[in-house]
Amino acid sequence: MSVRAKKHLGQHFLTDESIAEQIADILSEKGYENVLEIGPGMGMMTKYLLQKKYTTHVIEIDDESVEYLQAHYLHLGPRIYGKDFLKIDLNDVFKDQQFAIIGNFPYNISSQIVFRTIDFRALIPEFGGMFQKEVAQRICAAPGSKTYGIISVLTQAYYDTEYLFTVPPTVFNPPPKVDSGVMIMKRKKDLFLPVSDKLFKQVVKTAFGQRRKMMRSSLKSLNLSDELRAQDIFNKRPEQVSVEGFIELTALIEKDGISNQ
Ligand code: SAH
Repeated sequence: MSVRAKKHLGQHFLTDESIAEQIADILSEKGYENVLEIGPGMGMMTKYLLQKKYTTHVIEIDDESVEYLQAHYLHLGPRIYGKDFLKIDLNDVFKDQQFAIIGNFPYNISSQIVFRTIDFRALIPEFGGMFQKEVAQRICAAPGSKTYGIISVLTQAYYDTEYLFTVPPTVFNPPPKVDSGVMIMKRKKDLFLPVSDKLFKQVVKTAFGQRRKMMRSSLKSLNLSDELRAQDIFNKRPEQVSVEGFIELTALIEKDGISNQ
């Protein structure tokens, strides 16, 4: 008996053992003793994770897959969580222990998975796995590239990212319509930015809201002083501004706000 693929849960099961093993191998295994696999499905990758020295936990939203895992992976036992990754409080599961995340992720909630990881970054030194190729490329994109955008900047503020390899639709059942991409993120030394997270996010989102325009016009709604807007960075388009550039800009805006009061 195997699990029937459900489209609304983004289920595309890997059928290629060597790809499953290659993805299971991307983690460095340094700095944590626990790994959480998101969306194990029928455990195609889980069996390779279980051969590693860390303790594997899995979280799976689909009841049918959970039953399959309970029947076939007895030693996972209490470490199978039949829950929604986007809703679970990771502190409850891991207390204050560091853990890595891995998965052949459900593509319909890719960015939400990444943003939730960023929210819980104090616990998560490493995150790696497979997304729709374009999403993996966006997460890892450098400034100046066409795919560089909100998710690139917001992720790279906290994690160093690296695109690893591309996987074709033919190794899935059912095959997705798109290529897939495997990538890895490693947490930076500083957990916190030297500026307000909230303002940083607002600046990045507002800037890329109008991607083709110069920062001068796309950031108009923030009501910045003329003095600040005379700075060089305002003559750039958001896709030309580095992560550090956005952080420096946020610091200037914070100061500007204080001097405007
Ligand atoms: N890792 C398996 C399955 C990948 S498909 C393989 O490679 O074969 C993605 C999996 O994520 C599915 O099993 C789906 O049920 C699960 N999933 C979807 N949304 C989820 C969520 N919010 N939380 C946890 N698992 C989820």
